[in-house]
Amino acid sequence: MDNTTSELAASIRSIPDYPKPGIIFRDITTLLGNPRAFRRAVDELVQPYAGTKIDKIAGMEARGFILGGAVAHQLSSGFVPIRKKGKLPHDTVRIAYSLEYGVDEMEMHRDAIEPGEKVILVDDLIATGGTAVGATKLLRQIGAEVVGACFVIDLPDLGGRRKLEELGVSVHTLVE
Ligand code: AMP
Repeated sequence: MDNTTSELAASIRSIPDYPKPGIIFRDITTLLGNPRAFRRAVDELVQPYAGTKIDKIAGMEARGFILGGAVAHQLSSGFVPIRKKGKLPHDTVRIAYSLEYGVDEMEMHRDAIEPGEKVILVDDLIATGGTAVGATKLLRQIGAEVVGACFVIDLPDLGGRRKLEELGVSVHTLVE
């Protein structure tokens, strides 16, 4: 682990048995509350895309909004929220996606992205990949070109990164 990785890892709090027994919740509120760690995380997230024209950042509710907003600012891109169903006020596209137990639905505004626009997906963590795979399919449904996805944390044993890469999305993560 280099210095940045270990500093970021140390700024993330792990809560055992939350929200259910057996799950270790990786709580990034401690990273967000640490000015140096927050800046470092955003600098590292944008690093592969520096100098590339990215039209939109798509952030997943809810922690993807915080990180994605900062990434969009840094890359001079627009920001598009991908939300749980029923939260967006205008005409939406919707997709079902798999969770660890069961399914849910996510939505975005139909007119949020023009066909052919280059989009990067942002969230705090990738686990099984269900959320990010659903978001990629939703973005492609309206013609977006998903050029990459970035996450602060990868849980490699759960295989999400591989699933996204199999869809042709390059994945950038900071801490395992
Ligand atoms: P998945 O769809 O399985 O890749 O799960 C990713 C989504 O669930 C992200 O939006 C994460 O914020 C959340 N998530 C899943 N597992 C954890 C965990 N162990 N700690 C914190 N957040 C998690």
